[in-house]
Amino acid sequence: MLLQSLLLLVFVAFAQLALCAEDYYKVLGVDKAATDKQLKTAYRQLSKKFHPDKNPGDESAHEKFVAVSEAYDVLSNSETRQIYDRYGHEGVQNSRNGGGNGGHDPFDMFSRFFGGHGHFGHSSREPRGHNVEVKVEISLRDFYNGATTEFHWNRQHICEACEGTGSADKKVDHCKTCGGHGVRIVKQQLAPGMFQQMQMRCDACGGRGKTIQKLCTTCGGARVEKKPTAVTLKIDRGAGRDSRVTYENEADESPDWVAGDLLVTLAEQAPSRDNNPDGVDGAFFRRKGDDLYWTEVLSLREAWMGGWTRNLTHLDAHVVRLGRERGQVIQSGHIETVPGEGMPKWHEDGDSVYHKHEFGNLYVTYEVILPDQMEKGMEKEFWELWEKWRLKKGVDLQKDSGRPIRDEL
Ligand SMILES: [Zn+2]
Ligand SMILES: [Zn+2]
Repeated sequence: MLLQSLLLLVFVAFAQLALCAEDYYKVLGVDKAATDKQLKTAYRQLSKKFHPDKNPGDESAHEKFVAVSEAYDVLSNSETRQIYDRYGHEGVQNSRNGGGNGGHDPFDMFSRFFGGHGHFGHSSREPRGHNVEVKVEISLRDFYNGATTEFHWNRQHICEACEGTGSADKKVDHCKTCGGHGVRIVKQQLAPGMFQQMQMRCDACGGRGKTIQKLCTTCGGARVEKKPTAVTLKIDRGAGRDSRVTYENEADESPDWVAGDLLVTLAEQAPSRDNNPDGVDGAFFRRKGDDLYWTEVLSLREAWMGGWTRNLTHLDAHVVRLGRERGQVIQSGHIETVPGEGMPKWHEDGDSVYHKHEFGNLYVTYEVILPDQMEKGMEKEFWELWEKWRLKKGVDLQKDSGRPIRDEL
């Protein structure tokens, strides 16, 4: 009996131990089949979100920051990831105790991703890299429907091969010539018994105070490399033309600074027939704020007699019907307001199921085209018809205008 309860106690203790450490995949919010790239993206987002510099005094954020770093540390290494998948936290712990690769510094990990010393440069004296501005052209269709797309730019990364050290074996030594100061004091004799002391940049280490035995073959010792980098861009429904999306600390990286911000301007792409996969009329709408503009052409007969319809395919391919009954006249240049057929009005809850979009207006300008030539028979009939009705109830605009009448010379 005693033995049984003891066993139970041990079992409970074990269960608690297992509960304490949360699943690494869950911590990063990815599933078990996540690729390296997905892990990296998850780490980037979460480590920034929970960084203590951004959540001062928030203990739970700090804990999450540490947990995210630990989870990434284990899963980003294929060896430890395998051990974790098979034996869980304990397995990783055991293998580490054996290998002597104990605890890691979450700020160290952060700096490998974002440069600097693992902190944001608000209050600290951490230098900050320049911001980078990028303009991305978005079709009107994507502004209307919302879209998630990707663009590439040539970004400077901390070299992954040498982890920003510039050294093939990741080892960096103090320069022996200058003792790590980067400068040397040189004595120069000006005249017998007269010396001048000069401070000179150490040419053994190029003034960096550090030397490397074997340069990293990937970056050639530069510690950074430029490479095309994909950025996921989400365009909200109704996002303003030339509005800006900010990616904090996603600009060029360097071990010497905290990366600046990547600023993306959403420019509007000129409409083109090639970039109109659904063949919608809406691709040629003109946008002004939340409103859209369109010009529709009518023949003389349609404008005058009525009795016509037009189907306008909007940017999401729904149809807006224009038309007039027989006998309804449209003047050339007339502007018709179609309420609610403009752009969706941008709203921060745009994606939420509880949010309903409001729309601007669509303004249709009518342009009437007169035939520039007629068949002879047609011309004769029209002329006679006009004469008949002009004599009966014609309007003389010259007389009605009130302008002085001058005799013709
Ligand atoms: Zn030196
Ligand atoms: Zn390198």
